[in-house]
Amino acid sequence: MHFTPEHEELRRSLRKFIDTEINPHVNVWEEAGRFPAHDLFKKLGTLGFLGITKPVEYGGAGLDWSYALVMAEELGTIHCGGVPMAIGVQTDMATPALARFGSDEVKREFLAPSVAGDFVACLGVSEVGAGSDVASVKTTAVRSGGDYIVNGGKMWTTNGAQADWMCLLANTGEGAVHQNKSLVCLPMKTKGVTVARTLDKLGMWSSDTAQIHLDDVRVPRRFLIGEEGRGFTYQMLQFQEERLWGAVSGLKGMERIIEATIDYTRGRKAFGRSILDNQVVHFRLAELHTEVEALRALIYRAVELYIGGADVTRLASMAKLKAGRLARELSDACLQYWGGMGFMNETPVSRAYRDMRLGSIGGGADEVMLSIICKFMGTLPAQPKGDRPGQRKDAAAD
Ligand SMILES: Cc1cc2nc3c(=O)[nH]c(=O)nc-3n(C[C@H](O)[C@H](O)[C@H](O)COP(=O)(O)OP(=O)(O)OC[C@H]3O[C@@H](n4cnc5c(N)ncnc54)[C@H](O)[C@@H]3O)c2cc1C
Repeated sequence: MHFTPEHEELRRSLRKFIDTEINPHVNVWEEAGRFPAHDLFKKLGTLGFLGITKPVEYGGAGLDWSYALVMAEELGTIHCGGVPMAIGVQTDMATPALARFGSDEVKREFLAPSVAGDFVACLGVSEVGAGSDVASVKTTAVRSGGDYIVNGGKMWTTNGAQADWMCLLANTGEGAVHQNKSLVCLPMKTKGVTVARTLDKLGMWSSDTAQIHLDDVRVPRRFLIGEEGRGFTYQMLQFQEERLWGAVSGLKGMERIIEATIDYTRGRKAFGRSILDNQVVHFRLAELHTEVEALRALIYRAVELYIGGADVTRLASMAKLKAGRLARELSDACLQYWGGMGFMNETPVSRAYRDMRLGSIGGGADEVMLSIICKFMGTLPAQPKGDRPGQRKDAAAD
């Protein structure tokens, strides 16, 4: 991966912003169970951080994904997982399909204010009964004159309690499950949209995660993204950036936890020497550091190919899988060396242990990533015709 002075400048300026505008507040936001999304996103938008890869006509910088990579990697220096995840939803999970397939009108209405930081976006794919199996979502958007009438609900919606609009996946027709869905921009202040509850979570405390009810919600049909019936495919493409983003955003957090563990174990004595001086400890940390660098190399390779226009479904799935697993292994191994203090909420390693657990579940579970990789390897048993699962994130493999 070749980084230019522009990449380094982006890294520096974002790092400065994180050090002054985010990290000093993280503990308070974690306690509160949410961060002020409108306030923070407005600041990020004003500095141009929310539209790095978005078209210039809608306020973006029009840069390639190597700059998104730098941003996602640097967000890993935030002292929690919840805030970077919420920013990632805004930049690389709820808006890529809109930017790529939306009409000029719908982009002016939803993309431009999201890039400016005036709107907070959320992604409404998962439902109470459908997470891994995206094709089985039940929410419907039925035509009624110039509108859609939306009924159903969404589950585990990041930013859901604070969002201005949702990138909604809903069934707009009958027929084959991969061809009857559409993506629609759904304004959250519309009658019939209810934040049923904000969910209490193991980790990612500063990010609000909501269950949303949608009852007879009237949305203009012009808020459709791209073509009707193409929503499943658009969402699968959108997941490609989500997966890459998810993998890269964990790198610096993992390195930070290794560093913190070195500091702690160097200062802590047992049996007449520092914990770190036990070979099993410093060797294990060296091994984990090596794994992080290997993961970084895989991600950088996938991003290079992606920028070149390749379909990186296979490599992005591998990166997401490896990132989720390594984050779990690393946070667990490091926590062990902190002993009792590792079990205390006040230490960074326990927050990392809680937050990093999501990596193997959110944005497509490890097993879904494995299924995709198997499909590329030709080892996934064939499904009976008409009974294919349409698993989440199974993008271009289909
Ligand atoms: C904090 C948080 C934030 C989230 N944010 C969002 C968001 O903003 N928008 C959104 O749409 N969704 C969001 N999600 C939902 C997330 O993407 C789903 O939870 C995830 O895709 C898994 O779906 P599920 O929970 O329904 O698990 P299920 O589909 O019920 O699967 C349960 C488990 O079964 C196993 N499994 C599944 N399929 C297979 C298989 N084929 N073979 C073997 N094992 C399998 C896996 O281990 C999986 O973890 C969020 C979730 C969390 C926890």
